[in-house]
Amino acid sequence: MKWQGKGVSEGLAMAQIHLFTPKLPEISRQPAADAEAEVAKLEATLAAAEEELRGLYETAKEKMGEQEAEIFDAHLTILGDEYSVREPIIQRIREQKQNAAAAITDQFDELAQMFRSLGDELMAERAADAEDLKQQLLRICLGCGRQDLSVLPGDVIVLAEELTPSDTVRMDTAHVKGIATRLGGATAHSAIIARTLGIPAAAGIDGWQTEALNGHMAILDGADGTLTVDPTDEETASYQSRKAQADCEAQALEAFRTCPSQTKDGAALEICANIGTPQEAQQAMKYGADGVGLFRSEFLFMDRDALPTEDEQFEAYRTAAETMAGKPLIIRTLDVGGDKKLPTLELPHEDNPFLGFRAIRMTLSHPEIFRPQLRAILRAAAYGDVRVMFPMIGSMDQLREAKALLREQEQTLQAEGVPTGPVKVGMMVEIPAAAVLAEEFAKEVDFFSIGTNDLTQYTLAVERGNAAVAHLYAPEHPAVLRLIAMTAQAAAERHIPCGMCGEAAGDPKLAPAFVGMGVNELSMSPRRVPPVRKLLSGLTMDECRQAAEKLLHP
Ligand code: PEP
Ligand code: MG
Repeated sequence: MKWQGKGVSEGLAMAQIHLFTPKLPEISRQPAADAEAEVAKLEATLAAAEEELRGLYETAKEKMGEQEAEIFDAHLTILGDEYSVREPIIQRIREQKQNAAAAITDQFDELAQMFRSLGDELMAERAADAEDLKQQLLRICLGCGRQDLSVLPGDVIVLAEELTPSDTVRMDTAHVKGIATRLGGATAHSAIIARTLGIPAAAGIDGWQTEALNGHMAILDGADGTLTVDPTDEETASYQSRKAQADCEAQALEAFRTCPSQTKDGAALEICANIGTPQEAQQAMKYGADGVGLFRSEFLFMDRDALPTEDEQFEAYRTAAETMAGKPLIIRTLDVGGDKKLPTLELPHEDNPFLGFRAIRMTLSHPEIFRPQLRAILRAAAYGDVRVMFPMIGSMDQLREAKALLREQEQTLQAEGVPTGPVKVGMMVEIPAAAVLAEEFAKEVDFFSIGTNDLTQYTLAVERGNAAVAHLYAPEHPAVLRLIAMTAQAAAERHIPCGMCGEAAGDPKLAPAFVGMGVNELSMSPRRVPPVRKLLSGLTMDECRQAAEKLLHP
């Protein structure tokens, strides 16, 4: 028997199915005999849920890291929202005489429906959060025990409608070999957790109505999303050979987390990671990155009501620097404006935001935002090899102005007696003008980092992320590649490192050619580090040059 779903976390597993169908008793619609007793029950339920969520947050943080634990913070926020939760539920009890459980059910169903009606993916996740919270509150309110995945009979593939964040946190991960769900998708919380923990998972496994599946042997393929129940001998043999090969490949990759980054003939490279939060520096270290080639600082500024203070930024940069334990950490100054709005900053409407008031153009006009960031970076440099990088540099004046502001702040901090560290200064090469003038810019900076995402859009006049022109978006276009080669050559002539931190850096079809052009640091999502390091270690510099030549002059 074979079910086809969607692969959401790669890997192969064979184990017995463990059907997980936590059921709550029917909710009674009996009107509240004593409304105040029901309100008291509700208050007790909310308090107990809050305590439980705080516990789950700590467990999740310990097991999976701070970032994965944030979901429980989000639940706490929903739970603490007086206007959407506590007050309307009390109103339902007092005015409509609903009992506490019925009032909770109706209010959370309404909330989930409201999130769903907003129609985007993020809001659909909020709806799932509301559903998860409802279940949790009802369990507490009705005094039901919890069926969970913390104790399992052995190695299993969990088969469920959907796993909530709290289900996944409590899960005995040593014994869960695979996860198959009817609902969910690649961005569902359980899929994210499965990928973090390296557990194969498939979503959209539909059509199983029966309890009879429990305990049956099954094979789950998290890449193609199939679940094969009661596999034939042939299917089992095929699984075993594919699994052996996959294990072998995974083991081979394991060695590439720690070995030096170099070509086959020993040319030194740096394979680094891109991060967006200080916590992601842990991922960079886990996958053996040689450093952080790009810390997109704008993530610290978004999704909040007020700008982060200098001290808040300092803490974030220092945490990342300390996590990197002496390895380089390149912090890019704020790259917002244009289409990336800051809720705290009223920016004028622009018809062409990508050509507009963005990144360094915005920060140079807002020294009250730029200065604290530069100070925080300089202060964090006392705790590691922190470097600063300016985004969207298009003219020498911009670069010089940014550098002057940095030096001014360095002197101010020193005069104030605040500890700082030496900070190398680099720039993104992501506007064609910067690539064309790379020779001049190379005299003024300590390093380059090529941003292929923007360099491609500006060179080809193809908006990144615009589906209508996605087929024209091509970092491998010879025009883009020639600008990259010019930049790398200018860097080599001035003996400064040339990095690359756009998506293309981690593309196995292009990475060898970039190295052949003279790019000596490639920065990518942390997971890509071992496979790219492996790929490059198997090629000589000459082979990389040939790859470059082929693409530059097709
Ligand atoms: C780039 O443009 O390639 C880059 C790395 O910057 P971002 O994607 O953040 O614009
Ligand atoms: Mg960019």
